[in-house]
This record gives sequence, C-alpha cells and structure tokens, in this order.
Amino acid sequence: MANTTDHISMPTTTTDDFAYKTTVATRIELPDRAERDVILEAAGYNIFNIDARNVYVDLLTDSGTGAMSDDQWAALLRGDEAYAGSESFHELRAAVADVMGFEQIVPAHQGRGAENVLYGALLEEGDVVLNNTHFDTTRAHVATQDADPVDCPAPEAWEMDSTVPFKGNLNIDRALEVIAEVGPENVPAIVVTITNNSAAGQPVSVENVRRARELANEVGAVLVIDACRFAENAYFVQQCEEGYAGATVTEIAREQLAFADAVVMSGKKDGLVNAGGFVAVADDPGLDDLFETCKQRGILYEGFFTYGGMAGRDMAAMAVGLREAVEHSYVAGRVASVRELADGLAEAGIPVYQPPGGHAVYIDAGKFFPEIPSAEFPGQALVCELYREGGIRGIELGSLVFPDADRPELTRLAVPRRTYHREHRQHVIETVEAVYERRETVSGYRIAGEPSMPELRHFTADLEPIEK
Ligand SMILES: *Cc1c(COP(=O)(O)O)cnc(C)c1O
Repeated sequence: MANTTDHISMPTTTTDDFAYKTTVATRIELPDRAERDVILEAAGYNIFNIDARNVYVDLLTDSGTGAMSDDQWAALLRGDEAYAGSESFHELRAAVADVMGFEQIVPAHQGRGAENVLYGALLEEGDVVLNNTHFDTTRAHVATQDADPVDCPAPEAWEMDSTVPFKGNLNIDRALEVIAEVGPENVPAIVVTITNNSAAGQPVSVENVRRARELANEVGAVLVIDACRFAENAYFVQQCEEGYAGATVTEIAREQLAFADAVVMSGKKDGLVNAGGFVAVADDPGLDDLFETCKQRGILYEGFFTYGGMAGRDMAAMAVGLREAVEHSYVAGRVASVRELADGLAEAGIPVYQPPGGHAVYIDAGKFFPEIPSAEFPGQALVCELYREGGIRGIELGSLVFPDADRPELTRLAVPRRTYHREHRQHVIETVEAVYERRETVSGYRIAGEPSMPELRHFTADLEPIEK
C-alpha cells in the first residue's frame, strides 16, 4: 500500500466557517408517531415505499438531492435548448476543462448513462476490470458486457476504527495478484473510484492514483477515474496527504484526475445538480478511437453529443455547479456537515465508521443490535426504527442489499448537499440516541415477498418484523 503514515489528522473546519442563507423554503412535516407506525407497516417495512412527504429528514442518498445555488438557478433560465452546438454545452465543456482538466466530453443523462457509454466502448466478453470498489451501477455495467468486475479495496477498508488515512485506496498488491492470475491481456481497464462510495465514502490519495497509473501502463490498460465525488476527495487530500496542504482543491483535483485516460461523472454528486453526467476522455491521439466510439454510443443511448440526455438548462446549471464544488468554503462546509453528524453520534456512544467519509455516516448496526443476527437484517431494523422514532430515512447496506458479501451490517445516513442544517443534525442525533436506549426491545425482520431480480431486492422487497 502507498500509505506510509499511520495516523490521520482530520480537517478542523466546522460548518460555522462557511456561509449560506436560505432564500427558498421547503416545508417539511413530521407525521405523528401513530401515523409513522401505520406508514411503516403499509410500506412493508421497506423505506423505498415511503412517500417523501412523509419523511422529515431524508438521508436516503446524497445523489441529486442537494440544493442548487442562486447562480445555478440563474444559469437554468439562460439554458440554450439547441439540439446541436448548444451554448450550454460549451459552458459545460469549459467548466470541465477548467475544473477537471479534460477538453473532450460526451454528456449523459446521469452517471450510469455515462458508464454505459464508456464501458460499452472499452470492454469485451471475458475481460476483467479492477476497481478499488465497484459502485453498484458500475458493477452492473461491467457485468452487462460479460466482463468480470473485481474489487481491490484497501485492507483497512472495513476496519471501522482504523485511523489509517485513505482507506478508499486501490489495493495495488491485490491488483497485481489478480493481474497475474487472469493475465494482463485480459485487463483492459483499471478503475479508481474517488471517493470510494461503496467503501464508506473513504478518500483515495493522489499517490495511490499515481501508482494505479503506473500499473495501467505496465498492463497496457486504460485508467478510468469514477470522479463522482472528485471535489470531496481533493479536499481530503488537501487536509490529509503529505505535501498538499498548500494546494487549492482545484489544483489537487486537476493533478489527481490528470492521471486518468477517461473519467465518468455523475452530475448528481459533485456536479451539484439534480440530474446529468458525462464521460470525459483525455486529449491523446492514442485515445481518439475511444472518444469516437463514446460519441457514437452517446448518440445511440443518450442523445446527440452536445446534450446527451440533458436539457440545455441542466448543462448550464452543472457548469456552474462544477465550479462551485471546488470552492473551499463549499467543500470544507460539506465535509464538515458529515463529520459533525458522525462526531455527534460517536459522542453519544453510537458505533460509527471512523473517520467519516465525504458524503455519509455509517452506523455499525451489528454492534448497535448485537442480539439481532445477520440473517434478520440488523441494518434494516435500524432503518425502520429511525423512521418510527424520528421520521428519518436512511438505507441498509448490509445483508439485505449484499446477501453474499462479507461486509459489516451497516446503516447509511447520506447527507444531501447544502440542504440540512445543524437543527436537523441535532434531530438525527437525538433520534438515534433514543433508539439506542431502547435497543433491547427492537426485533429483526424476515423477507415476506421477494421480487424476481434478487440483486435489486432491497428496492422492492416486503419485510415483516419477527416477533420477539
Ligand atoms: C452515483 C454513482 C454512480 C452512478 O451515477 P448515477 O447518476 O446515479 O447514475 C456511479 N459511480 C459512483 C461512485 C456513484 O456514486
């Protein structure tokens, strides 16, 4: 591993250091306790079946759920809806070039559309793709090409209390082993996901991406960066990686992304918009064919290559969002809002993944409910109790979502960008504490009705509580 230090000094910025005021107010309502019981039962104890209007603090995901700035709303009004050569496309392309350093883009309706464009162009049957951890849509797109997605997470990725920095890194040693096993000719792509969403949103160091680049060169593979949270990652590098304290978030982001041949991006994350995405390909003659194929696939699946499934106004808003995402005050406040939630919970004695990543807090539901076995979904029990207790919506990421994986039983509380304030965080902390106090009364669940696609069961399965 590239990690040479065994300590981590966490960012000290707090949410007091950045400033927004609210200019659009959205009413939220907490249904009363008896109603929440009824709603939960009617939803089959599956949080995806609950209407948003019945949720008080919605921490289901940080994907596309953030608040846009006034500048973004202004850009929306100036959106150019031309089919070809839209001015908004040029604004988006200029923003990607300035912020991320890539001149060539193929827009897509969201991240998975970009994945379809790129991985369809890169992969063939029997290929093996290495990734620090495949995000679920990435895994599915690799598998759809009849290729084999192999995860190479850092050994510490699931050590919930390890303070080794950059637990999101690609495990280079493991990657070398896999390459030796399957043969370098069968590995056309190495992917680094920054931050590592499926490993608790942990950051990846610049040094690690440099090593991944060297590995890709040795193997003759394309190095892809899944850049969904590139700005949050760059901020962690600035705070925690040796040699970067004096660099700006933009400088770090550009340095890190410059190692990649291609980038996939979901605008719903660090694009600070509600929809959109793109593929970017480095301006290198050796990659011209890849870019051409991506453009053709873009036309086929997304839309003409100057809009790719996005309205012109959405491209205009993302162009502004990308520039805001690397502003220090924005990203420092963003990461602080996640850390303050994690710290508040940890102070109350709740077992949380440490250090917190960039977008979410992960509670160890296995430790929270030691009497509920994995087969009875302790993470889902916590999800249900958080709704019952405080109208909060989180998500299970344990044996319900990953039935066959050797992973801890987690409940994730994802934090939407620029949306919730300290009062909401306080409500969440008090709610989790209240559930913790009565944890011995909480029972596990069984699946009552399962859909036909087992890998998507958590979206639609019905559950029922197991009587104590
Ligand atoms: C969200 C996400 C995607 C997919 O993007 P969508 O916009 O949801 O389709 C891909 N990779 C990572 C790491 C993500 O977080």
